[in-house]
Amino acid sequence: SETPASLIMIFGATGDLAKRKLYPSLYHLFRKGKLAEHFAVIGVARRPWSNEVLREHVKDSVLTSIKDAENIEEFISHFYYQPHDVSDTDSYIELKKLANELDSKYSLQGNRIFYLAMAPEFFGTIAEHLKTDGLTDTNGFHRLVIEKPFGHDLESAIQLNNRIRKVFSENDIYRIDHYLGKEMVQNIEVIRFANAIFEPLWNSRFISNIQITSSEMLGVEERGGYYETSGALRDMVQNHMLQMVALLAMEPPIRLTPKEIRSEKVKVLGALRSIKVEEVKQYFVRGQYGPSTENGEHVPGYREEVNVNPESNTDTYVAGKLMIDNFRWAGVPFYIRTGKRMTEKSTKIIIQFKDVPMNLYYSSDKKLAPNLLVIHIQPEEGITLHLNAKESGGQMMETTPVKLNFSNNDIAGLNTPEAYEKLLFDCLRGDATNFTHWDEVALSWNFVDKISTYWENEKAEFPNYAAGTMGPKDADELLKQDGFFWWPIA
Ligand code: NAD
Repeated sequence: SETPASLIMIFGATGDLAKRKLYPSLYHLFRKGKLAEHFAVIGVARRPWSNEVLREHVKDSVLTSIKDAENIEEFISHFYYQPHDVSDTDSYIELKKLANELDSKYSLQGNRIFYLAMAPEFFGTIAEHLKTDGLTDTNGFHRLVIEKPFGHDLESAIQLNNRIRKVFSENDIYRIDHYLGKEMVQNIEVIRFANAIFEPLWNSRFISNIQITSSEMLGVEERGGYYETSGALRDMVQNHMLQMVALLAMEPPIRLTPKEIRSEKVKVLGALRSIKVEEVKQYFVRGQYGPSTENGEHVPGYREEVNVNPESNTDTYVAGKLMIDNFRWAGVPFYIRTGKRMTEKSTKIIIQFKDVPMNLYYSSDKKLAPNLLVIHIQPEEGITLHLNAKESGGQMMETTPVKLNFSNNDIAGLNTPEAYEKLLFDCLRGDATNFTHWDEVALSWNFVDKISTYWENEKAEFPNYAAGTMGPKDADELLKQDGFFWWPIA
C-alpha cells in the first residue's frame, strides 16, 4: 500500500526532532516501498543551508539508526532546502516558487503536508502565512501536522486553534501525540475489542482499579527552560496520560473510523469527574526531584539544573486519581503517575480485577493474588496476564501466581516501527485516527487547568522525592486510602 504523491514541507528541518525522528521514519517508509515514488521534501529553517548540506544531514541522521541504508542516495535526492524566516512574506513567496517547481518535477498533484517541527509560538503565524502567501492554492490536499504542546492551558489552546482553523479544516489538522503511534497503545483497542474474554469483564463489576505509570530515568537535561513553563502535568498528563485513559475507558466504537473512535474518546474525557479547586489535594499529588548520589556521584536535583529557577515550583512528577462518572466506570479509580528521575524508564498499564467472591484456599494462609492484566507499552512491548494456579507437586491444594506472557520483543526479526513512522504514514494516507481531535484537546485542558491553577497559587514543599525513586510518599497514600497500592513496576 503506497501513499499518494505528496510534497512534505518540514518547518524546523535543522532541529532535533527532524533529525532524530522524522528523517529516519521517512527513510523507513521509503525503503518499505510505502512512500510513493512521487514525493519530495522541502526542509525549511533559518540557517543558510543548501540542498547538499541538508541531504548530507539527512543521510547522517538515517545512518545513525540504520546501518545498511540501501538506496540512501536516491532517497536524499528527493530533499530540498529553503532558508526561511517564519514571519517574512518574501520567504513564503520563495518557498511557494520552489514548491510549485517540485510539484511539476515530481508530479505531486498539488498534495501538500506542512509539518511544523518547531516551537509552538510559531504555529499560528506559519499557518496564516501559508494561506495568505498562497502555499495552499493548489488542487490537492493540504494537511497541517503540529507537534506538542498545543497551548499552555485551555485559553491559549483556543486562541491557537482559532488561528489555524482559519486556514485548515479540523479534518486536515494532525495534532501529534506520539504515544498514539506506539504499537502497544494502538494494541489497547485490539486487546479489548477482538477478545471475547476481556470486554465482558471490562467494567466496574469486575475491575477494581486501573494503574497507568509512565516513568523516566532522565532529568530535564538541556530542556530546563522549556520545562519551567510546562511541568509534568502539562507535558505528560494533559496529552499522553489522558489519551491512554480514554482508550482504556471508551465504549466500543460502531466502526473503526477516525470519527467514531474519536467521538468515543471524547465522551470519556467529557465524563471525567471535574475536580474542584479545594479537592485537588484529595485527588492529585505533585512532586519535584531532589539531589541524590548514584555510585558515589552527585545527581543534581531539579532546582540545580541549567535554566531552572533555584526556587522553582515546577512539578517533575504527578500522580492522580481519576474518576469516570458513567455507567461503565462508576466507582473505579484510574490512577496515573508520571515523572522524571524515577527508578526506571517504563510505561505500563495495570488492570486489576476484583477478588473472587470467597477464597477456598485459605489453608495456605496466603492471600489470593488478584488477577492483573498488564499492558507493557515501553521499552518492553507485550501483555502479561496474572492468574492463580495450583502449586505443582504440592500435597495440599495450594495456589501459586502464574503469568501468561506475550512479548513483542521476543518475535525474531520483528522490528516494530517507531511511533513517528506510523504517524507519518497515517498522515500521508489521510487517516487521522491516531491524532488528537480538537474536542479532546479542549476537554483535557479543561480538566488539567483546575489542577494547575490550584498548584500555581500554593507553594509546594519541594523537593519531595530523591532522584532514582518512584516519587513522593503522598502518591502511595492516594491509593492506600482506597485500600490499594501501586503494583511494583517489575
Ligand atoms: P529544535 O530547537 O531542535 O529545532 C527548532 C527548529 O526550528 C530549528 O530547525 C530552527 O532552525 C527552527 N527555527 C526556530 N526559529 C525559527 C525561525 N524564526 N524561523 C525559521 N525557523 C526557525 O526543536 P525540536 O526539539 O526539533 O522540537 C520541535 C517541536 O517538536 C517542538 O514543538 C517540540 O515541543 C516538539 N517535540 C520535540 C520532540 C523531540 O524529541 N525533540 C519530541 C516531541 C515534541
